[in-house]
Amino acid sequence: MAAPWEDVLRNEPAIQEAARVAVDAALLEGVLMRTKGEPNASDVVNYAPFTLLPSAVPSALFEQAYAVQQDFNLLVDAISQNKEFLEHTLASTIKVDDFTARLFRIHKQVLEEGLAQSVFLGINRSDYMFDCGVDGKPALKQIEINTIAASFGGLISRTAAVHGRVLKVLGKSEEASRLLPNNPSKGLALGIAKAWELYGSQSAVVMFLVEEVQRNIFDQRCVENELWNRNIRVIRKRFRDVFEKGSLDDAKRLYMDGQEVAVVYYREGYVPENYNQQNWEARLLLERSRAVKCPDIATQLAGTKKVQQELSRPGTLERLLPGRAEAVTRIRATFAGLYSLDMGEEGDKIAATAIADPDRFVLKPQREGGGNNLYGEELRQVLEKIRDSPERTSYILMDKIKPQPSMNYLLRAHSPLKVSECISELGIFGVYVRQGKEMVMNKATGHLLRTKAIEHADGGVAAGVAVLDTPYLV
Ligand code: ADP
Ligand code: MG
Repeated sequence: MAAPWEDVLRNEPAIQEAARVAVDAALLEGVLMRTKGEPNASDVVNYAPFTLLPSAVPSALFEQAYAVQQDFNLLVDAISQNKEFLEHTLASTIKVDDFTARLFRIHKQVLEEGLAQSVFLGINRSDYMFDCGVDGKPALKQIEINTIAASFGGLISRTAAVHGRVLKVLGKSEEASRLLPNNPSKGLALGIAKAWELYGSQSAVVMFLVEEVQRNIFDQRCVENELWNRNIRVIRKRFRDVFEKGSLDDAKRLYMDGQEVAVVYYREGYVPENYNQQNWEARLLLERSRAVKCPDIATQLAGTKKVQQELSRPGTLERLLPGRAEAVTRIRATFAGLYSLDMGEEGDKIAATAIADPDRFVLKPQREGGGNNLYGEELRQVLEKIRDSPERTSYILMDKIKPQPSMNYLLRAHSPLKVSECISELGIFGVYVRQGKEMVMNKATGHLLRTKAIEHADGGVAAGVAVLDTPYLV
């Protein structure tokens, strides 16, 4: 899987010069992030971290990831509509995990009241690593699917231009011309625009629900701009604004400050830290409304690690996607080993196996955003402590994926330039729109490549571990 720039990797003057060009190109192209010091102002900004060089990605696996995305869109949508499956799957988890339990309570409440929403918009990102099996042949293995606030579809649309420039500076024009164009944010905006149109009110707006701390605003602005270009009005609000100024009318239309909202696009609300009592009330108000939520709360629950684990049980995919045997085969081919820690013999057995051989596994709680998983010695210690307690059911176990590392430079503001051994994670963005029972859009709309140094077990660009990258297909 080597990329054709091994020859320049150790050429220090050439690398230094390329890095200077790369950083300026990133700033020019808009690969931007606000700073930690001033996360809510754009007076001082910096480049989002990225690799100096594109990383090699096997083209067959890249194509496989694109080819299965529409299947995953259908699957997530099917799960979100399957009340019994969600209830049964999350039953043990919600007994011990308060966050999932609260989401689930809202889900139940809106179903009992009757859904006011009739148009559904899903934006997800399915993430993969290239597992180096015993035969040494890389295989595409899914890490997880993100059904809420999947980010970097904007900034990543600008990295191919940066990497193209770097390759040219290094005398690799031919290779530069082979980098693929990529613009997930445009596809995401097309989905939002479609949902807005089907909602059917010309004067209604799209509301981005954003966090209190907004370092990654430029990534979101990319999607916003695409909507403004289509003359769709966008407002940015936080949960606390919704609590203070949001209301529903008799037909459960959502209003903010007197403005009707057609679509709520969540870039917030995926971790417990995003919520206080008022924010939970705001979330409930949004979920009860007629507005198109991206995602609705059922679709957020469909993205939990517990659901992912349950999908890997024999027969589950077939039940969820009846009559779609080929889709089921494509989806299953991407699954790594996933194991339930529910109380009982099956859970006891896998817990004992993982304690004996922790490096084979990753222990995952029901959390998003990076930095929550447990590996190695820490995995062993935690699992040993909770092995006989129902607390263990708030986690799942997953086989650890072991990709083949390659060398690259990770460019980060205020960090020295040094070569690192790296591994990459490929994400494919999916977007779909459903009106009632009819799918009116189902697409794969671009990719995200993130790369990290191998010394970090966990990932995440926002978490400060992974950096943006561009695939170079080999
Ligand atoms: P989160 O919701 O926090 O993003 P993930 O399941 O994506 O949770 O895990 C976070 C990171 O941990 C991933 O980006 C990846 O780097 C690493 N990771 C997760 N699962 C595995 C696995 N099975 N094998 C190897 N690394 C993993
Ligand atoms: Mg992840």
